[in-house]
Amino acid sequence: MRAVCVEHPGLRRMPRLDFFAVIFGARWRVCSDHRLPRDTDGDCNRALKRVRVHPTNTFEKRCETLLHELLHAGYDHLDEEWVAQFARDITPVLYRPDTLQFIGLQRIPDSQQRA
Ligand SMILES: [Zn+2]
Repeated sequence: MRAVCVEHPGLRRMPRLDFFAVIFGARWRVCSDHRLPRDTDGDCNRALKRVRVHPTNTFEKRCETLLHELLHAGYDHLDEEWVAQFARDITPVLYRPDTLQFIGLQRIPDSQQRA
């Protein structure tokens, strides 16, 4: 099983593709960070208010990881297995073409995305 919640503090340089998300009134930095260890899909650092997602994963995995880590950002005491299962279950609903069409978005194929 891949790690999704390991924190890797100490990185100083600003990763590319950052954005901010306000979650329960707190401003979180969301980063696509290739410096995450290859076996780590993402992390959630509460002290830094930062969520990171590994950019070389597939669209589906990045979506699942982002949802997973944002759940941790929103509430620190959620059960890890609950978070993992929820993110796995909801992600396919979010990225399938009919859902994207339903909300007015179009999926960008992995081959056309920036890492
Ligand atoms: Zn987790």
